Amino acid sequence: MVMLVDVPRMSAWIAHEGAAAAIDGIRSRLEADYRRWPQFDKTPRIASHSPIGVIELMPIADADRYAFKYVNGHPENPLRGFQTVTAFGALADVHNGYPVLIAEMTLLTALRTAATSAMAAVALARPDSTTMAIIGNGSQSEFQAVGMRAALGVSRLRIFDTDPGAMDKVARNLEPLGFEIYRATSAEDACRGADIVTTCTADKTLATIVRDEWIEPGTHLNAIGGDCPGKTELDPAILTRGDIFVEFTPQTRIEGEIQQLAPDHPVTELWTVLDGTATGRTSDDQVTVFDSVGFALEDFSALAYLADAVAGTAFAGEVDLIAEPHDPRDLYSLVAEAARPVTEVQSGTRAA
Ligand code: NAD
Repeated sequence: MVMLVDVPRMSAWIAHEGAAAAIDGIRSRLEADYRRWPQFDKTPRIASHSPIGVIELMPIADADRYAFKYVNGHPENPLRGFQTVTAFGALADVHNGYPVLIAEMTLLTALRTAATSAMAAVALARPDSTTMAIIGNGSQSEFQAVGMRAALGVSRLRIFDTDPGAMDKVARNLEPLGFEIYRATSAEDACRGADIVTTCTADKTLATIVRDEWIEPGTHLNAIGGDCPGKTELDPAILTRGDIFVEFTPQTRIEGEIQQLAPDHPVTELWTVLDGTATGRTSDDQVTVFDSVGFALEDFSALAYLADAVAGTAFAGEVDLIAEPHDPRDLYSLVAEAARPVTEVQSGTRAA
């Protein structure tokens, strides 16, 4: 049997743990996995583009476990009543190749993206950060806020979205949790006085959501929405002024904000900061940019954390996904066994 965490079980597990605790737990797991980066078999994700979106497969493995995620990105989906990002994925045992967990990953992606943003901000933002701008107030935004508060204590938010309804939704969800929320009148207004600027907009264009002149010295940018070829959010002048930190360089060169720069523009992989071989923030005036695109290791860590957390609990269901006959070579026996009662009924040898 394969463990199954579907949407109702995932929602119930997050509600039971608390979103902050779940994001924080994934962050710890993720940090440990990022520190053993060389042990993973890594590849840029495999993307299938259409004029209105992308569908991607994200595989990764270490010596013991393999994971993949299927994820889409369709920025115009909300206008048609669908979500921009949905996902599901699996964790498997490398020793026999069997899947051990299948999970919905739309919610899990929001948790792991928040965990990754928080992990990067702990390493790169000024430790005295108290205020975050969130530009783009869609599905990811509340999780980003909850994760940053759990990791850094950031509880003042300056929110902005081109859709006022999205800002209403963030205020409705986060004010009861004790966040202090300022509804900005523009992206520029949101950036004013923010220690951390998170951009999580969805648009399949080379957009400039944040301009260089709005960014004060010392700001940490957490740019998560520019994650596809032809889809960016930051003014290139911010990228040349600041120091850029990425997940997996070969993937980020294709998908990240740095697609706007020369292919040899220097970047630092985040794992090297976490394992102490590279330096993160060097001064209070430095502008740091986490050019996040979402990397398979984050899904691996989230799935591994989830598997440990839900095993043996009511949050894990079961699905019979592996065709496993008594004799491993007699796969046909499963068909024969399934067909027998029907044959017997048809031939009248068995009471219906
Ligand atoms: P969403 O569609 O739910 O929300 C996007 C929001 O951005 C919407 O409310 C929209 O009105 C707003 N927006 C669009 N253009 C804007 C602009 N110019 N200024 C201000 N607001 C604007 O999408 P989501 O699920 O929250 O995802 C947000 C982005 O993050 C997407 O681009 C998605 O692909 C990306 N993403 C990245 C990662 C990662 O790991 N880096 C993970 C998940 C999602």
